[in-house]
Amino acid sequence: MATPRVFNFSAGPAVLPQPVLEKMAAELVSLPGVGSSILEVSHRGTVFTEYLNRARDGLRELLQVPDDYEIMFLQGGSRLQFAMIPMNFLYNSGKKAAYAVTGSWGKQAFKEAQLQGDAELVWNGEEGGFRELPTEAFSFNSQGYRYFYYVSNETIQGLQFQSEPEVGDVPLVCDASSDFLHKPLDVSKYGMIYACAQKNAGPAGLTIVIARKDLLESGAQGLPGYLDFRSHAENGSLFNTPPTFAIYAFSLIVDWLRDEVGGLQAMLELNQRKAKLLYDVLDKYQGIYHGHAHPAFRSLMNVVFNFSDDRLKQGFISEAEKEGLVALAGHRSVGGIRASIYNAMPIEGAQKLAEFMSEFAESNG
Ligand code: PMP
Repeated sequence: MATPRVFNFSAGPAVLPQPVLEKMAAELVSLPGVGSSILEVSHRGTVFTEYLNRARDGLRELLQVPDDYEIMFLQGGSRLQFAMIPMNFLYNSGKKAAYAVTGSWGKQAFKEAQLQGDAELVWNGEEGGFRELPTEAFSFNSQGYRYFYYVSNETIQGLQFQSEPEVGDVPLVCDASSDFLHKPLDVSKYGMIYACAQKNAGPAGLTIVIARKDLLESGAQGLPGYLDFRSHAENGSLFNTPPTFAIYAFSLIVDWLRDEVGGLQAMLELNQRKAKLLYDVLDKYQGIYHGHAHPAFRSLMNVVFNFSDDRLKQGFISEAEKEGLVALAGHRSVGGIRASIYNAMPIEGAQKLAEFMSEFAESNG
């Protein structure tokens, strides 16, 4: 008998929508009407081209990406973007790049940018233990900056911007790896927004980049082909062999978001309901649980908390596992628990975890 599915709270690679998994399983050996697997066909042939177009056009429609923005499918994960962005836009530009360091991923990106040019730390949450984000009081003078870089959702600390920071007319560059497609966005506010796929957008191996065409065109000259965004834009993401299976999977995720979830506004409402279930328990049992993020900056995607007594953690994790609630251990740098409740986590998973947390608090309080 097949092993029943558990509720998987992994931070990434993470849970995928069950209907998407089932469709991939049904089509894996032989695509309907084709007789080959998607894994076995040329990236330049008609079969894959159709999925590539469906992924790109479907994303454009779902997120209402304006025509003056390019959508690119790359490899190298978000880490490659940490380097590619300053290579293309900071290196030799004669300008500075502004970095908001709001958690572990912003910090890593800032380090990479410093290798390419004058990257400046304009906001740093590290001293406060990465529990807060810039507020409306944060003022930024965009004069002399090439771009402003930030992370919309810090996956490890569980902090999320509620809206884009106000940065004047400097292009906003956003790492949306762990909250991509969790809500509608006004793409025209961004110079570039990117995400690795393995949280909200499919299996690992694919990075989705949406960028304004004039920004891409203004990039540094003389870069190696793969590292120059223009290579990917000019070749429709076929500069080299792209991650074909992950792009096919992403096209199914886009279909799922549109047809089964009902679009990004519906996705947001569901995500809010799921997160509220868990944060309500944290707020009720403050004697046991300590949320990591200041409540104003809580993430809808990664719910991060510690225990008043750290010795409770192991018991929590092993008892949760017995209930089919898995992958809850927090990142080693923060400790405690991290429950990642991405788009594909069903509300039943959040409900079951919330009930478990209440019972655990009652019996250990
Ligand atoms: N940025 C954020 C916000 C992330 O959560 C992650 C991965 N957890 C990364 C960047 C790095 O992504 P990758 O492993 O694809 O390079």
